[in-house]
Amino acid sequence: MADTTLMTIPGQVDPVPVARDITPREDGRIDLIGLPRPRIRELFEEAGLDARQAKLRSKQVFHWLYHRGVTEFDAMTDIAKTMRPWLAERFVIGRPNVVEAQHSSDGTRKWLLQTDDGHDFEMVFIPDADRGTLCVSSQVGCTLNCTFCHTGTMRLVRNLTPGEIVGQVMLARDALGEWPKGVMDGLDEAEDAKDPVGHYTADGRLLTNIVMMGMGEPLYNFDYVRDALKLVMDGDGLALSKRRITLSTSGVIPAMERCGQEIGVNLAVSLHAVTKEVRDEIVPLNKKYGLEELLQACADYPGASNARRITFEYVMLKDKNDSDEDARELVRLLKQFNLPAKVNLIPFNPWPGANYECSTPERIKAFSDIVFEGGISAPVRTPRGRDIDAACGQLKTAAEKKSRAQRDREAAAQLATGE
Ligand code: SAH
Ligand code: SF4
Repeated sequence: MADTTLMTIPGQVDPVPVARDITPREDGRIDLIGLPRPRIRELFEEAGLDARQAKLRSKQVFHWLYHRGVTEFDAMTDIAKTMRPWLAERFVIGRPNVVEAQHSSDGTRKWLLQTDDGHDFEMVFIPDADRGTLCVSSQVGCTLNCTFCHTGTMRLVRNLTPGEIVGQVMLARDALGEWPKGVMDGLDEAEDAKDPVGHYTADGRLLTNIVMMGMGEPLYNFDYVRDALKLVMDGDGLALSKRRITLSTSGVIPAMERCGQEIGVNLAVSLHAVTKEVRDEIVPLNKKYGLEELLQACADYPGASNARRITFEYVMLKDKNDSDEDARELVRLLKQFNLPAKVNLIPFNPWPGANYECSTPERIKAFSDIVFEGGISAPVRTPRGRDIDAACGQLKTAAEKKSRAQRDREAAAQLATGE
């Protein structure tokens, strides 16, 4: 994976630490996961293949990596037997390291993952009758301290690289056993005949949708999230349609238009409040990018239409943002900006030390009814995986749960023992 020494990128919306472009691992080999096809081709040329060979091999390898999900060069059967060790000497096919995998009583699965430089992050899979949604992380921690969010109590450790982001989807396919199997040629023909565009259909698949709603703010890591999602959407890659991908943002306005133009995925916006006073408090980013400006950016979001509505997430916090008046104001605002909108009401998921309570079911129902009566769909999201802390806003990795003092004590003890 990438060298993750921290550096700041000039010209970012906000300077945040990011990992550098690829650098070889300690053994000198380069991890191919997360790299776009042209980069793989360049690397093959740099390693000594002539232009024609590099083009052919990179196309084959890309297909094996992203379409077939192989993790060994030796499995690439249409590449000459002598060529495979040549590749294995120079390159690797990485996956995030799995620290722990948990299963909820409702079928939700959560994985605690680790980057090569030792940072923990999480990924959640939520199966439903008609779909299966993978909730993917974009950062380790988050810089934005939304007061009701567990991840928000972590400091930002660093952005995840494209390989670490697309690697989550690949790992989920590994775990669910969902890579196309069999002899390449025969199967390819059968697949192509069924689906000429090369996109997987939802039929019979467990993983059908992706939401960028795990740890972190994806629009503060826009370039890497975009590069990863391009691999996910590539017809010869993971081949998942952009209509099945939703990116959730707390409202990073300058990156929203780019998101629509450069990735074109569905947008979800964490609105959570309808007055400046309350939103400033619970989503502090609101002090920088205000409500009206945010709703205008939503109205301008490329690709939003009645067929592809923007989702507004609204966490239900008792006596904070859940009154009838709030519900009416929500309808008024969404109509004022003429937004093709649907509202997703999220019952607050508690975590140790949180200063909020979830609204009562009666309150949530009353709120939902008002929004529905205003002509906007406002279903209540059933919390999933609460028993394994996998529900919205509960993600916070064990390593980061330790207090500062505890980390300092451990560091001091390590120094003392010379480990
Ligand atoms: N950073 C992005 C995406 C990750 S959070 C964002 O904020 O949109 C995914 C969703 O879960 C967001 O709408 C977030 O506000 C919501 N959420 C956070 N903490 C929550 C909690 N404790 N209970 C319910 N929803 C929560
Ligand atoms: Fe970050 Fe989203 Fe949590 Fe806010 S809600 S702290 S933006 S992860």
